[in-house]
Amino acid sequence: MDLTVAADRAALDKARDELGPGRIALVPTMGALHEGHRSLMRLAREHADHVVVSVFVNPLQFGPDEDFSRYPRTFEADLRVCEEEGVRVVFTPSADDMYLPDRQVEVSAGGMGGVVEGAFRPGHFDGVLTVVLKLFNLVRPDVAVFGQKDAQQLALIRRMVADLDVPVSIVGAPTVREPDGLALSSRNRYLSEADRRTALALSRALRAGAARGQTAGPAGILDAARAVLEEAARFDPPLLLDYLILADPATFAPAGDDHRGEAILAVAAKVGTTRLIDNVVLTL
Ligand code: AMP
Repeated sequence: MDLTVAADRAALDKARDELGPGRIALVPTMGALHEGHRSLMRLAREHADHVVVSVFVNPLQFGPDEDFSRYPRTFEADLRVCEEEGVRVVFTPSADDMYLPDRQVEVSAGGMGGVVEGAFRPGHFDGVLTVVLKLFNLVRPDVAVFGQKDAQQLALIRRMVADLDVPVSIVGAPTVREPDGLALSSRNRYLSEADRRTALALSRALRAGAARGQTAGPAGILDAARAVLEEAARFDPPLLLDYLILADPATFAPAGDDHRGEAILAVAAKVGTTRLIDNVVLTL
């Protein structure tokens, strides 16, 4: 079946009507699609009859010093990916179509939006939740798929759906990695070869922490991961650590020594001008 490109909300409404009966799964993205996005589309197909992908670089979730203007935009290639993955509709609104000039109301990510990743990116999660809720209202999916790669985002979307009674099921998808461990990201294309070698320390640190988790508690896990990151701080270019945390995967509160069950080991760091995040889920 053919792929329909809907460039504004009127076109989306028409395309949605033409889908006919069946469940709809939405995969929200910012484009520059890679294997990680493909895996979300495949998972979406398992949960619904029709897959809708949105491609929208959301200005609301970028800070003033972040990479909004240089964020990679690869529209033609993205359409081919969607076509190959059997996607029925690609929704590619403009910022003007999404946001009214006199808009006032936004979703607040609350306290949980201000910790960990949110402490380094003020307002980021408010922007994410606002655009995701708008996409839910526009596409009206039965299911929406998000990557575990952005673990705090996934947790906050689950929180929003529960707190605001949003009628959509949220499915989390595992992180897709390069063979050497680097988590796929649209931002990886900013990395030089030397940057990339340094960037590998993120996944290496998470593996070191996870390996220690077999026998050690939170402090031992963090020590093992931190040792790898400290070594990479002496590489050329250096790894510049924003945070390393062991946290409760639902709340992102720090996991203390008495924490039992799942915990998320999450890291964020800059390599040159590129900011990368990664995480693994452990059972304590
Ligand atoms: P983005 O285009 O970066 O906003 O990501 C769109 C969706 O793809 C989000 O739900 C991300 O969590 C997910 N995603 C990004 N990278 C990966 C990856 N390496 N593996 C799985 N999902 C990913």
